Amino acid sequence: MEPNWMARGLCANQPPETFFPSDGVGVEVAKRICAMCPVKEPCLEYALANRIDHGVWGGCSERQRRRILKARRKEAGREKRVGLRR
Ligand code: SF4
Repeated sequence: MEPNWMARGLCANQPPETFFPSDGVGVEVAKRICAMCPVKEPCLEYALANRIDHGVWGGCSERQRRRILKARRKEAGREKRVGLRR
């Protein structure tokens, strides 16, 4: 079952391939649509939580999502080391 925010995404009325671009220009087109989307945050968190590798989600490219996950892992490790997290 798809999360209920998905139906409110601006991509709901766009061709799916817009959000699975094959080049940098296509990525920028998708990101511009996402920038105006009312469900950008849950969309990005969904893609991060589900480790979705392909496409533009929540205004972030595949590379940007990998960077976010890496930064979060690094931060979680730091918090664990200083005792803020178990
Ligand atoms: S942020 Fe982008 S990919 Fe996510 S629902 Fe909105 S338009 Fe679709």
